[in-house]
Formats: sequence, structure tokens, C-alpha cells
Amino acid sequence: MKIICIGRNYADHAKEMKTEVPTEPVFFMKPDTALLINNESFYFPNFTKELHHEIEVVLKISKVGKYIDEAFAYKYYEEISLGIDFTARDLQAQCKAKGLPWEKAKSFDGAAPIGKFLKKSELGNLQNLNFELTINNEIRQKGNTSDLLFSFDKVIAYVSQFVTLKVGDLIYTGTPEGVGPVYIGDQLKGVLNGTELFNFEIK
Ligand code: MG
Repeated sequence: MKIICIGRNYADHAKEMKTEVPTEPVFFMKPDTALLINNESFYFPNFTKELHHEIEVVLKISKVGKYIDEAFAYKYYEEISLGIDFTARDLQAQCKAKGLPWEKAKSFDGAAPIGKFLKKSELGNLQNLNFELTINNEIRQKGNTSDLLFSFDKVIAYVSQFVTLKVGDLIYTGTPEGVGPVYIGDQLKGVLNGTELFNFEIK
């Protein structure tokens, strides 16, 4: 399986990163070794001094597809969760400054924690999902999918022009504003429409 991540999909996050609001989706990938499941602890890597959280709504692809029409994209995912797109912000800044790819800042082991999945049918209107990240019980990021620049269906249609989507692939759909550092000892909790989906510690 592969992990596809959408960058700058909320205007307020693009703004806080001092980057342009994109006119088409930006995407990058993480390998399966980035996955962190079952609330396993995340071990702070020694190559960064500035590890940032980015909470994101995650779609699980349920059907193989290529050149998926936006109108039918909803048929390609049945389950939704929350995950973190961990980012070594210091390394990312160095990569950006040199015009280099971001992999070492985004794709390292454990850089994609994922929560338990909920059925789409349990969630109601997917364009009005509330989600939040708390650290040590304090809210750090709060988002609503109505603020997405590119909807779930648009993202699937766009990405599938370039990359065949396969069953089990995950799409991290972008983070709202409020990204910031995490530290050893922090407890990160992700809540979607009032349901806790992950809760793990930084060690
Ligand atoms: Mg992200």
C-alpha cells in the first residue's frame, strides 16, 4: 500500500506556512514504513529538533481506480480516520530552500500515525466533519472539512490521473492551521465528530 498526502489543502494553513494557496492539489507520498498503528508510541527521531504535528482526515481507498471521475470518486472510499502527517520542519525548510524533495522531512519511519477507521455512513455529511488534535488535553488544532480547498472527491480524481489507487491506500487530505512542535512526553489525541480515533505518546 501507499500513503498519499495532500499539502496546503486549507487556506489558513497555507497562510501560516507563508506559502501560496494552490490552484491545483499538491501531493507527495510516504512509504508503508511510515505507518504507526494501534496507538503505538512514536519515538522522537534524532535527526530533527523541530518535529511538527499536522492532523489530517484520512481516506482509505476501497476499490482500484485510475482516471477516476470526480462524480464517482465517492465510490472509492468507505472508511475515514484521522492521522498525523509528522513533519521535521527544520529539515523541510532546508529542503525547500535548496529546491530539494521533502522525503527526509516527511517520510521517515513512524511519520504517519493513523487512528481507527469509521464507516463513511456513520459520519453524516462528509463536507462538515469536525476534527481536532489535543496535546496533553489542550486543543492545538481544530478543523472542519467545509474549509478544504479541494474536496475528498476532487483530490481522488486529481491524484488518480497520475497514480493508480489501490485497495488499502491511504490519502491524508491536508491539515488546518495551528501546526506546531511536539516534545517527548506529549500525549496526542485525535477526535473526529466527537469520537476519539487515536491517542498515543511521544517517547
Ligand atoms: Mg500535511
